[in-house]
Amino acid sequence: MAIERLFEPPEPGQPVPVAPGLLWVRLPLPFQLNHINVWLFEELHQYTLVDTGVNLPDVVAIWEKLGQTLFAKKPLGRIVLTHAHPDHVGMAGPLARQYGAPVLMSAGEYFFTRAICAAVPGMNASALADFLASHGLVAEKAEQTNKARGGLFNKLVPEPPLSFLRLQHGDTLTLGGHPWTCHAGHGHSVEHISLVCEPLNLLISGDMLLPSISTNVSVYGTEPDGNPLKAFLESVQRMAKLPDTLTVLPSHGVPLKACTSAVPNCCATTSTA
Ligand SMILES: [Zn+2]
Repeated sequence: MAIERLFEPPEPGQPVPVAPGLLWVRLPLPFQLNHINVWLFEELHQYTLVDTGVNLPDVVAIWEKLGQTLFAKKPLGRIVLTHAHPDHVGMAGPLARQYGAPVLMSAGEYFFTRAICAAVPGMNASALADFLASHGLVAEKAEQTNKARGGLFNKLVPEPPLSFLRLQHGDTLTLGGHPWTCHAGHGHSVEHISLVCEPLNLLISGDMLLPSISTNVSVYGTEPDGNPLKAFLESVQRMAKLPDTLTVLPSHGVPLKACTSAVPNCCATTSTA
């Protein structure tokens, strides 16, 4: 089925509406993948944020500016996290502390965040370098990995949320006055949560469904005989049972939906990376 890409990406830090009461904010990333999309629900007395960006000066400046504008009128009241990768969890701890906002995420992602932030043995950069070396990475490259990764997570995620409210597959959250159902996914991360709102025909897919690029599926030394690709494929096969009328709001790229046009390649000229 062809994919139709919707909307032009906003300028970094400039909230734009994508649905009633739902804002799209694009934040910069210091990688080849140079941005992440996060989502802000305007509610009666507060905002609820889905994912947070990394702890780097330009992202911190965006949250400070939004603190002086949007959140000066209604505070940031809740933070929902799809998963524990730095671009999603990075600013959750500082923002939760600043606003006294609870953090909602799965238990698997929460404890993964705590373990990585604590650089526990077996989950730190040297363990990753050793694991890659055991699969043939030459010693020089393994040492480069150790140096590049050492401390990187802590730089991007300076403090973990100190507590959390657990999200599980099948839970329903009221966000912006509408029911959103949690869909757990595996293979990209431990217990990724995507959010589906059938009344609004929307899916916040996190990193489980992305346009243009494939999501990262990796084996790590903590589960050396794991099969994350099997887990990922099973997860997206479950997601494939969702209505194909949903507009997908992904963490990277632009919103998209299944194209129902009978015209061949009708979406080819509307693609926006
Ligand atoms: Zn991710």
